[in-house]
Amino acid sequence: MSELRQDPVSQRWVIIAQERDSRPDEYVSTPNRRVAEACPFCAGNEIVTPEAVAVYTMGDALAHAGQPPTWQVRVVPNKYPAVRHNANGPVRNELFGTRVSANGVHEVIIECPQHAASLTELSDDQLRLTWTAYRDRLSEHARDAQWKYGQIFKNVGSAAGASIEHTHSQLIVLPHVPSDIATELASCRAYHEARGRMLLADILAQELAAGERIVAESDNFVAFCPFASRFSYETWILPRRHSAYFQRGGDGSPTDVELGELGRFVQKLLARMEAVLNRPAYNFFLHTAPFDSAPYHYYHWHVEVFPRLTKAAGFEWGTGYFINPVSPEEAAKTLRG
Ligand SMILES: [Zn+2]
Ligand SMILES: [Zn+2]
Repeated sequence: MSELRQDPVSQRWVIIAQERDSRPDEYVSTPNRRVAEACPFCAGNEIVTPEAVAVYTMGDALAHAGQPPTWQVRVVPNKYPAVRHNANGPVRNELFGTRVSANGVHEVIIECPQHAASLTELSDDQLRLTWTAYRDRLSEHARDAQWKYGQIFKNVGSAAGASIEHTHSQLIVLPHVPSDIATELASCRAYHEARGRMLLADILAQELAAGERIVAESDNFVAFCPFASRFSYETWILPRRHSAYFQRGGDGSPTDVELGELGRFVQKLLARMEAVLNRPAYNFFLHTAPFDSAPYHYYHWHVEVFPRLTKAAGFEWGTGYFINPVSPEEAAKTLRG
């Protein structure tokens, strides 16, 4: 039987329609397409990208025979940005809309110097430094009062919007809080006002108690398929320790040790998805509290991962409801292995 479910955080409705399921091995995989020599993100080709805004090395550990250590993670401005810093122009109110230049920052986080198509090929250090770069770049932009929110996201495979194979992620910083984040914040605030409790902490506690949608656990992190998953095998990662902010400057952002653990935790989850779902295209993004100093203690930063196995079609675009052919209970069971 199909079931209509509502997500308590995003308020989105989804239709869980198990009978539309197709087996994981029927999904089309995304092949690795080419050799590294023309890759703009490989070490040696730095000249092709804009100058780095941040570079992470492993210090002296990698210095061989007097050679300086190479970078492990490199952050560069996006060469083809969706938004531009100082694109400030006048706000023009037209009859039925508002027009303003797209002001913001668009950066690319290159996750390793060697050509790797998947973050499952990253070393522990590269994983830790990638998640450290997420935290540091958000922290850096959060200090600038003109910015209100930073969105870290990753696209893998052309079906998920990637145009370059070399494993990388992106950051777009905006002068306002996007509506999806605003909705999540409003749900969490309303729940906190009504019950004096944290919505995402309660969801986590309930998922851990029930167990059926839990995918994986580590000392500090839990992965589960959310009750109202929009996409087949959609998985959320929450920290056990309550914290609204991933960036520094708010309450207790993740420590260096936690970032290392988180990097390995996400890698393990994606390795499992690659194995079970035949290397699907996927996206993930990091939701965190906005940059301003308003109290967001009722919120919880988290990561949302979704393989792109189904396409949003007419019904989804028409209604905003998603049809998901794999129940989150089934999905979690498969991902647990
Ligand atoms: Zn490359
Ligand atoms: Zn979210």
